[in-house]
Amino acid sequence: RLEIKNIVKSFGGRRVVDDVSLHVMPGQVTCLLGPSGCGKSTTLRIIAGVEMQDTGTIHVDGQLVCDTIHRVPPEGRSIGLMFQDFALFPHLSVGQNVAFGLKKGRDVGARVQELLNKVGMSRYIDDYPHQLSGGEQQRVALARALAPRPRIMLMDEPFSGLDDRLRDDIRDETLEVLKGEGTAVLLVTHEPGEAMRMADEIALMRDGEIVQQGAPYNIYNTPVDLKSASFFSDIN
Ligand code: ATP
Ligand code: MG
Repeated sequence: RLEIKNIVKSFGGRRVVDDVSLHVMPGQVTCLLGPSGCGKSTTLRIIAGVEMQDTGTIHVDGQLVCDTIHRVPPEGRSIGLMFQDFALFPHLSVGQNVAFGLKKGRDVGARVQELLNKVGMSRYIDDYPHQLSGGEQQRVALARALAPRPRIMLMDEPFSGLDDRLRDDIRDETLEVLKGEGTAVLLVTHEPGEAMRMADEIALMRDGEIVQQGAPYNIYNTPVDLKSASFFSDIN
C-alpha cells in the first residue's frame, strides 16, 4: 500500500507538484492522468526516491520512507520501476536482465523461470535484447521489475512506444501479472482512454494539482469542471 501526503516540489520558484496526496491499494491500479507538463513524472520520481520533495510524506505499507528529515534510498523502498526509456541492459541476456535485481542464491534461477513463464518469454532466456521486438522487450522489462517482489510498481507511460494492437495485448497481460502478484500499481498516462481501460481509480492532475479522484466512470460521467470534461472528450 502506497500513501503519499501533501507532496510539494518547486523548480525555480514554480510549483510543479502542488500539494499532491494519493494512495494505492495492493492489487489495484491507480492512474495519474493529466496533460503534458502537469507534473506526473516529477511525482513518480519523488516516490521512487530519485528526486527529493520540498515537503510532504511517503509511506509504503505503513512505513515512512521519506519526509523532510528521513529519507530511505531508492533501493530500500520496495518499489519497482517501468519507464518507457528505462531500457534493458543490452550486454545482458534476458535471463540475466531479470536476475539483475535479485540477491545471489539458489532460488534465483527458479524465480527467473517463474517470471519469464508469466510473461510468456521463457523461450528467450538466453537471447539478448537486440534480438527481441519492442513488445517482447517490454515483457522482459516487466519481469525484471517484478523480480524482487516490489510492493509498489511505478509505471510512466510504459506502453507508449508500442503499436496499437500490441499495446492492447501487453496492457492486458501486464495487468493480469501485476494483479496476480498483489502489487500496488501507480500508472502515469496522458491518455484518458488508457486510464479508463486500466484504472481502478483515476487521479486527474492539472498544473501540479490533483483536481479530481475517483472511479473511472464517476470521473468520466461527472467531470469536476469544463476543462476536465473536454480533456475526456477526445478519448479514443
Ligand atoms: P509529460 O506528459 O510530457 O511527460 P509530465 O506531466 O510528466 O509531462 P513533468 O515531467 O513532471 O511533466 O514536468 C512538469 C514540469 O516541471 C514541466 O514544466 C517541466 O519542465 C518541469 N521540470 C521537471 N523537471 C525539472 C527539473 N529538473 N528542473 C526544472 N524544471 C523541471
Ligand atoms: Mg512525463
